[in-house]
Amino acid sequence: MTVWVLGDQLTADVGPIQHTDHVLMIEAHGFADRLRYHPQKLLLLFSSMRHFRDSLRADGYEVTYITAETFGEGVQTYFTANPGDRLVLMEPPSHGAGDRLQHLVENCGGTLTRVENELFVTTHAMFDSWAGEHEEGRTYRQENWYRHVRRETGILMEDGEPIGGEWNYDDKNRETPPKEWSPPPVPTFSHDDITRSVHAFVSDRYPDSWGRVPSVEEPLQWPVTREQAVSLLDHVIDDRLEAFGPYQDAMLTDEWALSHSLLSAALNIGLLTAQEVVDRAAAAYQTGTAPIHSVEGFIRQIIGWREFMRHVYRRSMPELAQANQLSQTEPLPPLYWGGETEMQCLSEAVNHVYDRGYAHHIERLMVLSNFALMYGVTPQALNEWFHLGFVDAYHWVTTPNVIGMGSFGSDVLSSKPYASSGNYINKMSDHCKSCPYAISKTTGENACPFNALYWDFLKTNEETLRGTGRMGLMYAHVDKKDDTEWAAIRSRVDEIRSLAQEGEL
Ligand code: FAD
Repeated sequence: MTVWVLGDQLTADVGPIQHTDHVLMIEAHGFADRLRYHPQKLLLLFSSMRHFRDSLRADGYEVTYITAETFGEGVQTYFTANPGDRLVLMEPPSHGAGDRLQHLVENCGGTLTRVENELFVTTHAMFDSWAGEHEEGRTYRQENWYRHVRRETGILMEDGEPIGGEWNYDDKNRETPPKEWSPPPVPTFSHDDITRSVHAFVSDRYPDSWGRVPSVEEPLQWPVTREQAVSLLDHVIDDRLEAFGPYQDAMLTDEWALSHSLLSAALNIGLLTAQEVVDRAAAAYQTGTAPIHSVEGFIRQIIGWREFMRHVYRRSMPELAQANQLSQTEPLPPLYWGGETEMQCLSEAVNHVYDRGYAHHIERLMVLSNFALMYGVTPQALNEWFHLGFVDAYHWVTTPNVIGMGSFGSDVLSSKPYASSGNYINKMSDHCKSCPYAISKTTGENACPFNALYWDFLKTNEETLRGTGRMGLMYAHVDKKDDTEWAAIRSRVDEIRSLAQEGEL
């Protein structure tokens, strides 16, 4: 039996690789020509694959490592040398990927057996049976799923009850840091010959990629080996987890990471398993390293949101990728490609993505998506930008987050859009203080663009949104505005759109 290890499954600790010493890996380059992928994402992927190959060989595995333009070519090369071989693969989470690979293998006369993907904590069967029993209507509820997973797995549970007495400590997790607080320094990782040669290859092969190309001697931001990923996890548990809870929704000027874990890049390619990250966080509570509200909030992101996104995506594809229930039509404004805007919050967030292929969750949701949603950008245009720009972006996780959560293209993940005026950003960040736009103004010169866009968004999408129960309060405010106010709002929105299109917002 030969185990085919994909580039996002770089682990020898779980799955069928534990029962064989024959491994196939195919490094395909053509897929990355399709979009202008961030150079740091390509560097991370190809370097991690080559490091994993070498670590397997050092551990005695026989690894066939094929470099090819496409998976099709790679599979052909493999079966020419190994006719009729039987391959085993952990099910890839992105829609249709398993079927496509199966087809390629069978076309070359081989067989492919697909097995459960053990990089995740929960199984397809677990979600499907929960959804069948508990969920009614179109919208799945993350909080219900999360509690179910805790009950089933015993994570953060004691005698059948949640540890600490509450399922959720969100009320303690919405703070902004005091002035004297500074986040822990962000770890980086050193280059070696493999990374240097991948760096040269990526720079040469993908000259049109979007994002900053780091200098070849600059320390790496994202781990490319298991050892580096584990050292990042150690650092997260010891130095970041404690403040993760309270400050997870905050934004600060010139702070791109705050207390976020920065683990998604490593988790999503298998350098860490979700289970080990959760176990380490739970142990940190037991040893008193971090308080329950931080540990619970962090674990919820993984066994709640991350697993939830993967399953809802699986059950909602292929429709989810094309969903656009608000019939949005605008292209992504140029500021997403260059960060050239006077809006402090957007400029910061776009530059974070350009510099490192990363922005934290609140920047993704309440700045980058919120603006695009209310501006009227098609969910698909925004999804493509996230997909190419982020180091942790893979179809199964980007699509539900961007199309479902960020763009409200579909209501499978939420019954209400994550739309908000500038008030939210002002409350959760220090950006508005140094922004030339006035947060207190909705219309007129220098009014914060988020404000007019917000009211216009509610008015334009009234038919779809007014009926959804949780929007009632907002529509009470909509109803209070008179024709003169609406005319001023419309005129400000027209102005915002033309300034944005000209790159002058
Ligand atoms: P932390 O803030 O430290 O959180 C811990 C972990 O929780 C993350 O590493 C991640 O694995 C998990 N997590 C938290 N929220 C989610 C979520 N909604 N979905 C999946 N996992 C979650 N995450 C990706 O991994 N890839 C993406 O392409 C991606 N695109 C996103 C797009 C939008 C519009 C939004 C709103 C969210 C997106 N997320 C995505 C989810 C989340 O923002 C990132 O996982 C997180 O910011 C990664 O940084 P971190 O590792 O420092 O996370």
